[in-house]
Amino acid sequence: MKERKHVYFFGGKITEGNATMKELLGGKGANLAEMSLLEIPVPPGFTITTEVCNDFYKQGKENTIKLLEKEVKEAIEKTENIVGDSKFGDNTNPLLVSVRSGARASMPGMMDTILNLGMNEDTVKAIINRSGNARLAWDSYRRFIQMYGDVVMGLNPIEKDDEDIFEEIIGQLKEEKGIKMDSEFTTDDLKELTVRFKKTIKDKTGQDFPSDPWTQLWNAIMAVFESWMNDRAIFYRKLNNIPEEWGTAVNVQAMVFGNMNDNSGSGVAFTRDSATGENVFNGEYLINAQGEDVVAGIRTPQQITKKGSQDWAALQGISEEDRKTNGPSLEELMPEVFRQLNAFQKKLELHYKDMQDLEFTIQDGKLWLLQTRNGKRTGTAAVKIAVDMLKEGLITEKEAMLRVEPQRIDELLHPVFNPQALKKAKVIAKGLPASPGASSGQIIFFADDAEHIVKEHAGRKLILVRIETSAEDLKGMAVAEGILTARGGMTSHAAVVARGMGKCCVSGVADLRINYKMRTVTANGKTYREGDWISLNGSTGEVYEGQVETKPAEMSKDFASLMELTNKYARLDVRANADTPHDAKVARDFGAVGIGLCRTEHMFFEGDKIIAMREMILAENTEERKKALAKLLPLQQKDFEGIFTVMNGLPVTIRLLDPPLHEFLPRDIKGIEEMVEAMHISESRIKQKINALHEMNPMLGHRGCRLANTYPEIAEMQTRAILQAAIKLKKEGIDTHPEIMVPLTSSIMEMKYQENVIRSTAQKVFTEMGDTIKYEIGSMIEVPRAAITADKIAESAEFFSVGTNDLTQMTYGFSRDDIGKFLPIYLDSGILGVDPFQVIDREGVGELIKMAVSKGRLTRPSLSVGICGEHGGEPSSIEFCHIIGLNYVSCSPYRVPIARLAAAQAAIRFEN
Ligand code: ADP
Ligand code: MG
Ligand code: MG
Repeated sequence: MKERKHVYFFGGKITEGNATMKELLGGKGANLAEMSLLEIPVPPGFTITTEVCNDFYKQGKENTIKLLEKEVKEAIEKTENIVGDSKFGDNTNPLLVSVRSGARASMPGMMDTILNLGMNEDTVKAIINRSGNARLAWDSYRRFIQMYGDVVMGLNPIEKDDEDIFEEIIGQLKEEKGIKMDSEFTTDDLKELTVRFKKTIKDKTGQDFPSDPWTQLWNAIMAVFESWMNDRAIFYRKLNNIPEEWGTAVNVQAMVFGNMNDNSGSGVAFTRDSATGENVFNGEYLINAQGEDVVAGIRTPQQITKKGSQDWAALQGISEEDRKTNGPSLEELMPEVFRQLNAFQKKLELHYKDMQDLEFTIQDGKLWLLQTRNGKRTGTAAVKIAVDMLKEGLITEKEAMLRVEPQRIDELLHPVFNPQALKKAKVIAKGLPASPGASSGQIIFFADDAEHIVKEHAGRKLILVRIETSAEDLKGMAVAEGILTARGGMTSHAAVVARGMGKCCVSGVADLRINYKMRTVTANGKTYREGDWISLNGSTGEVYEGQVETKPAEMSKDFASLMELTNKYARLDVRANADTPHDAKVARDFGAVGIGLCRTEHMFFEGDKIIAMREMILAENTEERKKALAKLLPLQQKDFEGIFTVMNGLPVTIRLLDPPLHEFLPRDIKGIEEMVEAMHISESRIKQKINALHEMNPMLGHRGCRLANTYPEIAEMQTRAILQAAIKLKKEGIDTHPEIMVPLTSSIMEMKYQENVIRSTAQKVFTEMGDTIKYEIGSMIEVPRAAITADKIAESAEFFSVGTNDLTQMTYGFSRDDIGKFLPIYLDSGILGVDPFQVIDREGVGELIKMAVSKGRLTRPSLSVGICGEHGGEPSSIEFCHIIGLNYVSCSPYRVPIARLAAAQAAIRFEN
């Protein structure tokens, strides 16, 4: 049996790894090897594999050292040979190394790195002797003690605002010396720092600072493995779905010194602009500085390119003369180094075929590269880079499609906070990122107040703050900039409606105390009143105090061409959930090819309709009910005309009335008084009716097709409204494709009964109007029993639309409006991997959908099946819909582009 290899060397021709070995060598290690193979100057060294990280957690430190001893010694020798005459641990010509973490996926700054390892009092002297640069030697040593003390000896500040003990000592010495900058320290000062650092370490840990380089090396390697489990790393993994088993690799690499002299420096660079995607090389550097200095922001870094430097100076109001003397670009200061760097960045981008993020160090005029990786970027940049690289012939259409994470497209559609302003903003609470976007406004607690205020003072910015919202709050939500709720999950009313409106929403902020009576909300111990300004970040769930500046999103040409491409690859159609002509228009503009769900209940809240609706509900008998419905008919017909007109030529699925009737009755005394006045009936009668309609469990109560099966006249009126609208428009040359959908079906009998009502009404309408129109009748599949008996239901239903919100609710038995109480705990403890209301649960709910599809198509092979829950706009759920052969997904208008891209990606990933 061949022995497992634990250590891979990189440097020149004897490099053992390459870029394809990220799983084993981590991203950093694999790319260091690849760069070596590309003959780009990389200081030599070696990578200890990610597998050893797992060994370390199983077997502990001593055994891991034993496991590695031989291979590490050999690799150090190889490193020494390439560097030249220096030796690790030698007292005349010491080799110094860095010990760097590097996981499979990049986790920038999450784990620990130690530079200048191998130093002690003797090696300091040796370096001074050889280089004649005492300052470099002592500066490197004090940095090493600092990093090693933090990472290996546990003096790392745990909490962000804990004092950093070494920085404290540095601060003290600066005070004593009356200086401000690190660069003002004399060599003796730096030496003094090493003494104080070591003393503090001894005081705090009881241990001496180790002087033996091998002890330092082993401890550092183990500390990097340990850092895989530090809080920061665990949190980052959770955020980015990185499995713990992946482990981190450890890279040990010969040091190069950017802090050697003024002909040295270090920096970071991007091959393209990571914010805009523009194809311009850019980056920052510092003269006479080591590694982290640029990122750490101790000194203001300078720009790499002349153009970048000039732009930057212009922004700061710095004159060209000042710029040239105080902050010239690398291009101007070291033209030859810049020329090389520019050549390398081009080579690397061409090689990796993606935007690269580089680290480099210049040691006494010689350029070294220390890292390359695919650079992180904004959604805007992702789109631009993908489209540009396609045009440049660097990547194929399919690759371009796969380059953009669908979720990131959100950022292109909603206004965003100005990143500068965000840095200063104060977070007062955090909830679910229910609907992306950025908004600021004044607190308002009641939807109707919001409505009135905006009507009277157009342009007022309001944030509607509610414990939760319901259909009654719709208009208030529509005029608000954003919505904040204390309860409810990602599919709560507030969240769903906000996404549909493309409005920013943060939901389920458990820490909010809302007092409607006092009109106050308390968060983070502070009470805010109506009229106070707050800001919401719907992409992160953060709530800020005051007004945070935003900037509008811009829709680019590149975005349009990326969307155009999706049509070529996607097999799933994308429709939208839209209830108004406006929403339908937005959806169509975004490329929706139909409406997959038009909810009729929202229409009943507008204007006079709510009064007629309430009359209908309060009716004592069928006669009275019919009278009220007759008033609703023309109003409803008009709604449909509007939507059909916008959707000319495309299918529109209209769901018959779905929610329990009590939702249409007033909830407070003010509303009741309004009803008394409008309808001339007594207050007690209204109260009586409200009581009568009260249900223990309305979501499972008198709703969906149960309503129209007990009051068929409701379905009759709605069918009339739909078909009369369609025939009327037909005469005007508008091409309508109505699909009438029966909600909450649980059995074929429920469906058949509805079918009869709809067909006989249609017949009447056709005779009355002397014309016909093609229409379809379908069933919503949202009760598990409907999925299980789909073969029977398909006898009557001509299409299925899977209502994944309700289906998830009923399959799990999780109330989607109450899930906020336990969901965070379930997610934290791993009982649930993801929120099933956001991502389709393939194992459970997904099986039911599969069953509905296959059983339904058994009866009716041409059966069209789509989904219309919130999952319709979520990439992983869309992928699932593609795999199981659905015809379309339907989602909120603003998610249509995301869904189109996700559908294309699914088709590319799962060809045939
Ligand atoms: P991170 O993953 O946090 O970026 P790195 O391992 O990349 O950590 O290292 C931190 C900094 O130290 C980087 O700026 C890197 O370029 C620098 N660095 C790492 N190893 C060396 C080395 N051998 N010589 C000089 N600088 C180094
Ligand atoms: Mg790095
Ligand atoms: Mg439903």
